[in-house]
Amino acid sequence: MKKKHFRCDVKEFDCKAECCKSISTKPVLGVGDFIRIREHTGELVSKIWLEKGNTRLVYIPEQWGENNLLLTLGLIHEPCPYVSQDDSCKIYEARPLVCANFPFSLSHSKRMANYSNLGCMNGNISQKQKEYSRKIKAVMKSEMRLDREFFWTKGPQLFRFKTVSDICKIAEKLEGLLEKNGSWVTDIRRQDALKAFSELDEILKNVASSKAAISTQELGSIMEPILFVYLGECIAEQLENVAKARKHEYHETTREYYKILNR
Ligand code: SF4
Ligand code: SF4
Repeated sequence: MKKKHFRCDVKEFDCKAECCKSISTKPVLGVGDFIRIREHTGELVSKIWLEKGNTRLVYIPEQWGENNLLLTLGLIHEPCPYVSQDDSCKIYEARPLVCANFPFSLSHSKRMANYSNLGCMNGNISQKQKEYSRKIKAVMKSEMRLDREFFWTKGPQLFRFKTVSDICKIAEKLEGLLEKNGSWVTDIRRQDALKAFSELDEILKNVASSKAAISTQELGSIMEPILFVYLGECIAEQLENVAKARKHEYHETTREYYKILNR
């Protein structure tokens, strides 16, 4: 039967949950998402973050400017640590807001069009689906306000990649961090960061020799594992504090979210 509107059902569409595994669909999470995952799994927020989290550098030129990337929180995504062997989501009832809203997104206007070819969407977005997405986005916006007030208290952290020398400065600043901040870093994270360092090195050499243009997005992906090692422990502490001290602030938005999901 022809689907009237989008439904994420990996079994029905036999898509092998590609959206939960692909590098091009990495989710961005907020503090509320980590609190809900903690309540669902019983793990500490800091443990979830250090074991399964990742820094995310978001590229939204229309919002942040051509060469800027916004630092935010995310999950490892190749694949996501919450994908089961049978391709279902282990935390489906408490899944992050962006996952519930996928393939719609909060601020990237082209996002929906980019994914309208997914089998599950059938190229057809119904009024009901738009309404559902509008409600989820309203919860996202409320939680982004809470995150700005309690978590990102120094305002949005933008990383600027305007010139090669900007990147060199960042790379220099980060060099040696594995020795300084390395005690909590697992071997896999360490390897990822070292691999990223060598990729960065290669890009810088190419750019210096051929004056090739640098893609801000590509650089962002390379910098993410490096920044995780650099900032991960400090973010873990801040997440744990906010999740404990401000739990009640996220209670109302969580109630609204679960109402939308019919929980
Ligand atoms: S959004 Fe569609 S293609 Fe992606 S995992 Fe869900 S059902 Fe599969
Ligand atoms: S949390 Fe669940 S829905 Fe979201 S990317 Fe991971 S497996 Fe997929």
